[in-house]
Amino acid sequence: MIAGINRLVDIQQADIQRLSVPVTQGKNITLDVLRLDKIHATISGNKWFKLRYALEAAILSGSKTILTFGGAYSNHLLATAYACSNLGLQSVGVIRGERPEILSDTLTECNDLGMQLHFISREAYSHKGTLSYELLRQFPGAYLIPEGGADADGVKGAADIAALAKAEYSHICCAVGTGTMMAGLMNGANEEQLIIGISALKLPEHDNSIEEFIAQATGNKPNYKIWYDYHFGGYARKTPELLSFMNALHAETRIPTDFVYTAKLFYGVLDLVEKDRFPRGSRLLIIHSGGLQGNRSLPKNSLRF
Ligand SMILES: *Cc1c(COP(=O)(O)O)cnc(C)c1O
Repeated sequence: MIAGINRLVDIQQADIQRLSVPVTQGKNITLDVLRLDKIHATISGNKWFKLRYALEAAILSGSKTILTFGGAYSNHLLATAYACSNLGLQSVGVIRGERPEILSDTLTECNDLGMQLHFISREAYSHKGTLSYELLRQFPGAYLIPEGGADADGVKGAADIAALAKAEYSHICCAVGTGTMMAGLMNGANEEQLIIGISALKLPEHDNSIEEFIAQATGNKPNYKIWYDYHFGGYARKTPELLSFMNALHAETRIPTDFVYTAKLFYGVLDLVEKDRFPRGSRLLIIHSGGLQGNRSLPKNSLRF
């Protein structure tokens, strides 16, 4: 079954694509993209890397059920549902809020893959401590994976992504949700490489929770910087400008992005290049972390891909 985890995706498909966009002209900066979105249509991008070791640990512990958390358009829930259905494991997806009359496309797909959808009140969801206790009482023997795979196994898996980024890159750029992928990249990169994060969330002022998580997960490594100015209103928020950017990027490069994470990443990195925030001669690698589920929440025809 553990070999089965590796066979879920095709890592060979994660090629590196040169981005030829006008902002780099005359700047002596190269921009490449690591296309982790191409490893699989459903369990794409960073989610396979982040789930891999947790699934392995669950199987080794003899657990038959994976229980994890997410929202209506969660890349993580769908990836988990897909992996479990292919590995012969049961899966439970815990979702905040009342069960809606009509499930989102993503949750419908999770359900079709055999995931048991378990809705709980926002109130209960916010009590993280007693929540796991309650859930383990309802689903005895289940193996819990935190939301977004934000634990040591997630960080360890994400470190493997850095192995696909060659030493020639001076900067590795990624989207930041929980910071798990970023922490993994920092651990896996070599000492000269700087990891640049674009936050998908708008954090309250003086909220250092992501930096604290990263410090703890990396043993206080200093090789990173997070930019917080490209959230477009906050987590899973968007503007018409962001959607036009996604359409233009796709028309120019054939790269599909999602408005929750990777569109903000590409927008941010291109803006930073334009504003000369990278030294001349920099060689940047952008991690395309996959996951297009958020786009399914958009009105039809918002995107031309
Ligand atoms: C989940 C996700 C992220 C965020 O990763 P973290 O490790 O939580 O920071 C980034 N990009 C995509 C496409 C994702 O699905």
